[in-house]
Amino acid sequence: MSKPYDFLIVGAGFFGSICARELTNKGHRCLVIEKRAHIGGNCYTEKRDDIHLHIYGAHIFHTSNEKVWHWINQYARFNHYTNRPVANYQGELYALPFNMWTFNQLWGVNTPEEAQKIIEEQGKDMVDPQNLEEQAIRLVGKDIYEKLIKGYTAKQWMKDPKELPKEIIKRLPVRFTFDTNYFNDRFQGIPEGGYTQIFEKLLDGIEVRLGEDYLADKESYHALAEQVIYTGPIDAYFGYEFGELEYKTTRFDHVRHEYPNHQGVAVMNYTDEAVPYTRIIEHKHFEFNETPATWISYEYPEPYEASKTEPYYPVNDASNNALFERYKSLAAQEKNVFFGGRLGEYKYYDMHQIIERALSMVEANWG
Ligand code: FAD
Ligand code: UDP
Repeated sequence: MSKPYDFLIVGAGFFGSICARELTNKGHRCLVIEKRAHIGGNCYTEKRDDIHLHIYGAHIFHTSNEKVWHWINQYARFNHYTNRPVANYQGELYALPFNMWTFNQLWGVNTPEEAQKIIEEQGKDMVDPQNLEEQAIRLVGKDIYEKLIKGYTAKQWMKDPKELPKEIIKRLPVRFTFDTNYFNDRFQGIPEGGYTQIFEKLLDGIEVRLGEDYLADKESYHALAEQVIYTGPIDAYFGYEFGELEYKTTRFDHVRHEYPNHQGVAVMNYTDEAVPYTRIIEHKHFEFNETPATWISYEYPEPYEASKTEPYYPVNDASNNALFERYKSLAAQEKNVFFGGRLGEYKYYDMHQIIERALSMVEANWG
């Protein structure tokens, strides 16, 4: 007897919602279950005082992939927001990412040549960087590492930067121009009206059950559908059989103020380790909103406890990646179950990469 659904999709974040939309468009019967009380995964936004709050931290859309940009524009109009965060180190303000303004503010230099000379001198011992600290010093020198990277990174990951993979710091551009755009990508913006409406459109006409945890009754859920697409943590799926993968989690404290402008910028990073939070987000600046009140969010890194706290960031170092490979081999043996997304693939993917991965998976398997 055929099952009531062709696909059970676990998780209503970007990966799950895209699969649900694309598969429904191809005529498949889909059921989406989501353990949280809302759709959108970590991209979820909520409207308060006419401001769209990024409930799980700042989400800035950026990509150089034309196919992805074209695809997402079917579901939202993007504003012209460009991310230009400010670093606050003990009250001194610096431009990010690392660019000529930063070098001028730190060293008083005015030319790329002068800046390059200082960085080369400070980074010359790091010939073959092996970890985040060495890589950072090589890229931007000791002064910037000490003021703008060391404390922030130690707080964010709750680890000594010497123990972190060097790839993390390569996410940030280093420029010898006066360009303060945080991203190098061709397309960038914030969806007008927030992210949640994208998910409402993606899931329009598709059955979605909120507040349901697939892992609470895997067998019964599986019996509902021919195939399963699972976007939760891969180690949890297998009952942590080989041990727990490491994630980083964060607490977001949202605070309302009666005045219109708290910090004059959407993202301010606090790079001194003594400040307990990593950044303050002021949501209205993502959308050039002039409402009389404002909402800000503090991001506090917190220790991760499997199944008790939310797994936000995979920690892609060698030992976690090796453990993931073991889970991946198990996953390959699971009949009719497909793993995807930031948690299912255990990769530090941004939204545009998730969109690309989800569209490719549907195309490759059910195109
Ligand atoms: P998720 O959004 O995590 O969705 C997975 C969903 O599955 C969740 O809703 C979860 O509740 C659900 N789920 C898990 N287990 C189960 C279960 N057992 N049963 C039912 N449901 C389950 N990307 C950018 O491009 N730009 C940014 O500026 C940016 N900023 C970020 C800031 C923060 C703080 C974080 C954490 C991420 C940021 N990202 C950013 C990355 C972005 O959030 C991810 O790329 C994207 O959300 C991943 O989508 P996903 O569907 O894989 O995962
Ligand atoms: N980082 C830093 N200082 C900053 C901003 C970032 O040291 O002011 C480092 C930190 O290690 C962080 C990494 O750069 O984890 C990547 O930053 P990104 O802004 O890409 O992190 P995400 O958006 O994923 O939180």
